Amino acid sequence: MTDATAPKETAAQRVERIKREKAPWSIMDDIRRYAKDGFAAIPADDLAVRFRAWGLYTQGDGGGTRGEEMPFFMMRVRTPNGVLTSKMVRTIADLSDRYARSSIDITNRQNFQLHWLRIEDVPAVWDALETVGWGSQGSCGDNTRTVTGCPVAGVAHEELIDASPIALQVDRFLNGNPDYANLPRKFKITITGCAHWCTYPEINDIGVTAVRRSDGVVGFHARVGGGLSTRPHLALLLPAFIHPHQVPDVVNAIAGIFRDSDELRLNRTKARMKFLFLNHGWTTEAFLQEVERRIGYTLDDAAEENPPEGQYRDHIGVHPQRQEGLSYVGFSVPSGRITPEQLRRISAIAEEFGDGTLRLSATQNILVLNVPNSDVDTLIKAASDAGVWFGASPFQRGTVSCTGREYCKLAITETKVFSIRLAQELEDRLPGFTQSIKLHVTGCPNACGQHSIADIGLQGVMINVGGTQVEGFDFFVGGGLGERSSIAHRVGFRAPADDVPDALEQLLREFSSGAERDETFRTWTTRVGDAAVRSVLAGSVATSGAQPSPSVE
Ligand code: SF4
Repeated sequence: MTDATAPKETAAQRVERIKREKAPWSIMDDIRRYAKDGFAAIPADDLAVRFRAWGLYTQGDGGGTRGEEMPFFMMRVRTPNGVLTSKMVRTIADLSDRYARSSIDITNRQNFQLHWLRIEDVPAVWDALETVGWGSQGSCGDNTRTVTGCPVAGVAHEELIDASPIALQVDRFLNGNPDYANLPRKFKITITGCAHWCTYPEINDIGVTAVRRSDGVVGFHARVGGGLSTRPHLALLLPAFIHPHQVPDVVNAIAGIFRDSDELRLNRTKARMKFLFLNHGWTTEAFLQEVERRIGYTLDDAAEENPPEGQYRDHIGVHPQRQEGLSYVGFSVPSGRITPEQLRRISAIAEEFGDGTLRLSATQNILVLNVPNSDVDTLIKAASDAGVWFGASPFQRGTVSCTGREYCKLAITETKVFSIRLAQELEDRLPGFTQSIKLHVTGCPNACGQHSIADIGLQGVMINVGGTQVEGFDFFVGGGLGERSSIAHRVGFRAPADDVPDALEQLLREFSSGAERDETFRTWTTRVGDAAVRSVLAGSVATSGAQPSPSVE
């Protein structure tokens, strides 16, 4: 009998209880059993919490139904450092056709995502992934998510060190490790040896970046506590220099600090590691002391570092590798959406012209590595015959979006198709526009599309137009990472989705004509100010749906 006077369990308490009662990673055999017994056999606690540890969420119905548990699943396939073989790419393309209604997206953590999976088909998908050394463990839920890294690690001319072996080692150690099975919340790590920080260390829980000391020794710095969502926070630099062999110790110690921070487990919305700094009084000095206590030795003093200037680097195009006579080729995949057939063609191209090595990037794109320079032209022709973008416009390259209402049950608006069409519209309307623009679209304040770090961020909202609620977007500007990191801010203008192309066209035209020599879009918006940006946006829109954002009214 339940005690009616007992206090009601909070959402956080419920999740913590479910994780404690049975480790989420332990239910793989149960999921295989549910596949035989059907969707109705899945206990609510498994469905709500433990499935996530296997990269599985129930999805919306593709048309945006919300508030209803649909018997279809999204599966995120964990791809550490974005490292792929042609065989893996062919495998996921075939799985997408066979079980996922040909859906497939590249995520901004270098993973693939399948939709429309039935519980009955999950074991077959796992078994096929297993044949190529792949899987979905730990790609969602309160785990260490896929450890990301530079997609051109090991081949880039400019890298200080190939950090991919370290990223893969850390990923192997933490994922599936019972000691790290129950973290307070999701935990994101990136480890990169390149000079461009294309995996955005500033917005990870741990961002490890290479640095060369004045004595010539190459090692790493670590930033901690980065994250976006409703309270964006840029990661803080720990004052220490970390030798390459020390990185796994340091990262594991930080994961341990996070795991042991029970104060974070009281409220799911404030459970990310950044809240240790925001709400619980931690400083980077105290944090470093605790890291050193856990690893049992003292780290060297931090070196002087030069963060990249902040323009995004997407690795699109042909680039010579540091291996003589070889190049890598980066293809632009608008908002990460690709077809199984395109993937099969890219896989075949990677085998025919390279050695079958491919990588995924944090900008939702795909790269083919190790192509002899003499074959590059033929490869480009073969790729364009397959409909894979190569010489993409700044809009195709710079547009990123989250999953949105199509499959995400938390979404306010559709984002994927919207962002792909928006990039196409802007390309058609502004053919001479050459400056790189990060245009990030996100379907709700959770910010999975990372609108807070974009030159132009669009966050989904519902707008009242003449008494009818329509999908629209709130405009943000001024986000950027690197040397002059800043979080994008709401500019004070929102418009129905249909009016967004007009508004952005006008804004970008104004920028093109008004920018000073070499001025970036971000610098320009800062110089002219929000009122001017708002007035350009508002002046462009013919309908009465455009409105000031409530928070700046
Ligand atoms: Fe879903 Fe919101 Fe995340 Fe987009 S930002 S994927 S809509 S939760």
